[in-house]
Amino acid sequence: MTGTRVLVLNSGSSSLKYQLLDMGDGGRLAQGLVERIGEETSRLKHTPLRAGASAASRERTGPIPDHEAALKAVADELGLDGLGLDSPELAAIGHRVVHGGQRFTEPTVIDDAVLAEIERLIPVAPLHNPANLTGIRTARALRPDLPQVAVFDTAFHTTMPEAAARYALDTAVADAHRVRRYGFHGTSHAYVSRATARLLGRAPEEVNVIVLHLGNGASASAVRGGRCVDTSMGLTPLEGLVMGTRSGDLDPAVIFHLARVGGMSIDEIDTLLNKRSGLIGLCGDNDMREIRRRVDEGDERARLAFDIYIHRLKKYIGAYYAVLGRVDAVAFTAGVGENAAPVRAAAVAGLESLGLAVDADLNAVRGDGARLISPAGARVAVAVVPTDEELEIATQTYALVRKTN
Ligand code: AMP
Repeated sequence: MTGTRVLVLNSGSSSLKYQLLDMGDGGRLAQGLVERIGEETSRLKHTPLRAGASAASRERTGPIPDHEAALKAVADELGLDGLGLDSPELAAIGHRVVHGGQRFTEPTVIDDAVLAEIERLIPVAPLHNPANLTGIRTARALRPDLPQVAVFDTAFHTTMPEAAARYALDTAVADAHRVRRYGFHGTSHAYVSRATARLLGRAPEEVNVIVLHLGNGASASAVRGGRCVDTSMGLTPLEGLVMGTRSGDLDPAVIFHLARVGGMSIDEIDTLLNKRSGLIGLCGDNDMREIRRRVDEGDERARLAFDIYIHRLKKYIGAYYAVLGRVDAVAFTAGVGENAAPVRAAAVAGLESLGLAVDADLNAVRGDGARLISPAGARVAVAVVPTDEELEIATQTYALVRKTN
């Protein structure tokens, strides 16, 4: 293996996100997004990122019928920057795969058997795994000679003890249908927990971290010495925190009630809980910027949505504090966690007796890198740690292909 470049692909049902990284120096060469694949109004936005290549983004609009055409269009764009997928510099393609079940605990070189197993997991990830598979098949067809690696969103959570991973259900029924807590956003939780240890100047094995990944989807995890011991998402990404459009935790009897009394079908309830609940269901907005603007204007619905979001978040901080016993750091990440100072302040407000506090000035500072926002000398560090799932996927992919070549 001579090349040092890794192409990271994140294939959704109608989108393809990509980043090309050079693992020689960890630098990013290009990134982009194809949206609305299969529609008349598809759009490709490509951004070269290195000196030497044009820095301005390029956009193409017009029909891109399927993922194969999308990847070919991406390859063309990369080719224009001298970064074509036929280059010997390309060492591997790393794919984000949402669900790896219990079988995939590590990044895995993709062969036919691995593809078949990812396919077998579709019933537990019906929205995500089919799209991920399409991306993998397309990339394999384009470069059959190149190692392709699957990096699973669930893998980091496979270290959870059974006490955290099992629901209190009839064991035979749960096992027959593979019903257990898998957790998601694992690549982000892995990256952020390690980056938090680095920020503290300590080895990941030495520190216990609560990671709060607060994006449009949101999840918390308890990480003891670099290993995940609990996380808030479960069989699917619906469990846990209040999210942009997902309800998070609720009494399962709500579903029976809506079916029996509300006359709703299972599919309608599925859509309600995944797409029309959470912040958008509570106040009509799922963008935290807009919600904060409304709160500042005195909007009561937005205020209540914010309060419910924070109440749940605080419960998870407390729960994971108890799970870990000793906490060295709480790390906020993703769109809301990295940008919304009022969310961070409200989430730890009143937790001083647990050693948790936020310094108002540090919290208000905007910045790109990992930074502490707790007062000097605080017992527990509170940090903002930007996540970088693409870098983590590329790092894991490159390490694996170097080891196996
Ligand atoms: P993600 O899923 O990590 O891309 O996060 C997307 C979410 O981050 C958006 O829906 C917003 O709610 C939130 N967000 C992004 N930028 C900001 C900001 N400057 N202030 C508050 N929230 C933000």
